[in-house]
Amino acid sequence: MGGPARRGGRARCYGPAVRIIVVGAGFAGLAAAAEAVARGHEVTVLEARDRVGGRVWSVPLAGSVIERGAEFVLDGYNVMRAYASELGLTFADTGMSYYARDPRGGEPTSLAEMIAAGPALVAAAGAASPGTSVTQVLAGLAVSAGTRAAIAARASVSSAWPAEDLSAAALADFVGGFEPRPTHRVAGGNQLVATGLAARVSGAGAVVHLSTPVLSIEWSGAGAGVGAGADAGEVTVRVADGALSADAVIVAVPAAVLDRITFQPELPDWKRAALAEVTAGQAAKLHVPLSADEVPTSAVLSVPDRFWCWTATDGSGTVPPLVNCFAGSMPAVAGLRVDDGPEVWVQRLAALRPDLALDANAALLTTWHDDPWSRSAYSAHALGKHADPVALARPVGAVLFAGEYTDDECGGLMEGALRSGRRAIAQLS
Ligand code: FAD
Repeated sequence: MGGPARRGGRARCYGPAVRIIVVGAGFAGLAAAAEAVARGHEVTVLEARDRVGGRVWSVPLAGSVIERGAEFVLDGYNVMRAYASELGLTFADTGMSYYARDPRGGEPTSLAEMIAAGPALVAAAGAASPGTSVTQVLAGLAVSAGTRAAIAARASVSSAWPAEDLSAAALADFVGGFEPRPTHRVAGGNQLVATGLAARVSGAGAVVHLSTPVLSIEWSGAGAGVGAGADAGEVTVRVADGALSADAVIVAVPAAVLDRITFQPELPDWKRAALAEVTAGQAAKLHVPLSADEVPTSAVLSVPDRFWCWTATDGSGTVPPLVNCFAGSMPAVAGLRVDDGPEVWVQRLAALRPDLALDANAALLTTWHDDPWSRSAYSAHALGKHADPVALARPVGAVLFAGEYTDDECGGLMEGALRSGRRAIAQLS
């Protein structure tokens, strides 16, 4: 059977207007839908949840809007900024920095020491041979034990995967170092990008069906893959109460839940092999209102518990009375006993931040490892895994793939999800 590297990454040539089904109304699926309607295609979006946005989920709390999923708009989010601007959205400067977190709770160190270690860390990561873990890179760094532990915690948290089993490649994310740089989010909530795109495609005649999980996808041209010379054929997408036919389907669901969709015939070996290399990083969030009028911005990393917390300016230009927390990697999430509720995490937060007056009874916990439609937070660089971005993004007949995990440059991020949706539609022509 031909491998994915056989021909260019385009599906067959389509005429000017084709019927496209998009599975998943997260950022990837909605970007695909928006690009497809812009090209005059006939689009139907099928979404399992009762809302759009997927792992971007903004809700009101403590007089503000919090992000139960993706929060930070970081350096290089050009596509997200462009969509937001088209939709008339603005960005709030958070007044704190995602990049710079004050390390506490472990052996002595400081943010200044982490910052000083940044260039050597990036150089060591660049020189590391494949198969080297973040922990191994850190072991060779001339820094204090406290700084080493703080960087390991920082890498685990942000990568949603334990540093001990994290590829040194993940350290490329720290190329800008640990110095403070501006950090943003969409004023009013990141999910406004999703609701805005959904409204745009609906306004252009597309249909967005919520609470409609896709059960199976039948595609013809069995084994033909891309560029085999065969007609890629029609696709039939089945949901609980019926089936739809189309010329192409964009599958924009997280890799960790792809096995909830039956493909008929099965996806080819090369695609299943590529998908098997995708690692499901895990994370959870906690939001706790504060009983205080004036709250300064802050960003603090718990080194032993591998979570961080921050207070930040929102779209109103003031710091709302609430503290946001993010725990990254499954050991961290499990160690905070999130399956039993928010209590243990709130206790650890109270110990980390005695300066904050927590309203513990109003704490809001969000977990993603047990979310049926994601089963994960975002893709991670696990040691020994070699997720091939070319194979992951390559269509199989008339089945195209989008989602953060398919984007090489911005994998794991909102930006990567949006880029992947655009890329999938570009592959159609
Ligand atoms: P999703 O958003 O998961 O969308 C996929 C959609 O498919 C979902 O709506 C799902 O319900 C639907 N679906 C699944 N199965 C089916 C089915 N069978 N039929 C129909 N629909 C289906 N990124 C950042 O850039 N900055 C951050 O600060 C950040 N923080 C994060 C914090 C957390 C806690 C989490 C969980 C993620 C964070 N991310 C962050 C990552 C970001 O959320 C994702 O990369 C991005 O939203 C993924 O978009 P997607 O469209 O690929 O997938």
